[in-house]
Amino acid sequence: MFAVMDLGGTKLEVGLADEAGKIIESLRIATGEESPEEVFEKAAAFYTGKTYEAVGVASFGPLAGHCLSKTTPKRLWRGFDLQQGLAQSGILKPEMPCEILQDVQAEVIAEAKLGNHGDFNLYAYATISTGIGVAFYDVERNYLFRGAEGGHVPVPGNPGKCESHKNCWEGTCSGTAIAAKPTGHDLEPTTQWLLQMATAIYTIHLTTNTDCFILGGGVIDGLGQNQQKTLQQIQQAMTQINHNYIQLPALRISQVKSRALAGMATWLQMRTTR
Ligand SMILES: [Zn+2]
Repeated sequence: MFAVMDLGGTKLEVGLADEAGKIIESLRIATGEESPEEVFEKAAAFYTGKTYEAVGVASFGPLAGHCLSKTTPKRLWRGFDLQQGLAQSGILKPEMPCEILQDVQAEVIAEAKLGNHGDFNLYAYATISTGIGVAFYDVERNYLFRGAEGGHVPVPGNPGKCESHKNCWEGTCSGTAIAAKPTGHDLEPTTQWLLQMATAIYTIHLTTNTDCFILGGGVIDGLGQNQQKTLQQIQQAMTQINHNYIQLPALRISQVKSRALAGMATWLQMRTTR
């Protein structure tokens, strides 16, 4: 059994998962302006009296090793050492294995290993949410890598909302950029959004040659009934940009529930059995 956590900007999900990545029990804790120590204290209450062999955290970013980077938007968390925080709160026991990943990294593992997308080797996962993040997983080499600032690749069209770039993927296609709110209606993407999505995915594909490119996150969930149609429209736009130049990746919608927790458990299983 593994203790797995998904540390987001406004919530912490704590859980216990088995070696197959199945979530046995989980709890969502809303977080606000508390200090990291206070948040970990709440998490520790969940794990009191529970038995597990390793601890894994999928965290918002950016990360620098097992610390939050000094540039993270959450001020109180800047430079915070997650592994030390886990140890101090008593969640991580002495000598216990601990893995810390960025959320998208755990998510790409979940989709590659548990998503039933088919027989592919190199997977990309992009979360289209408040922001846009991307990560890659090579199944054959068991090699995981974060897509660095892949969420900020330049795209055509009107200026977006990124503070650093006039026109980038996150600044034009994220939930923040399109002011997507849960309305109860299925989101209808604009022609411009489809072209920007296709351009960004294609640009990333040119440099990575992924076999399967999976989309998830709040904006993709918000498409509802329009998900498959949207996927086909992005695929068509990519085909037009590509002009038969290289083989395009299979485009897919994320399939795994609680994928950060499930992916973290899958990663811990791979790291602790060698
Ligand atoms: Zn940007």
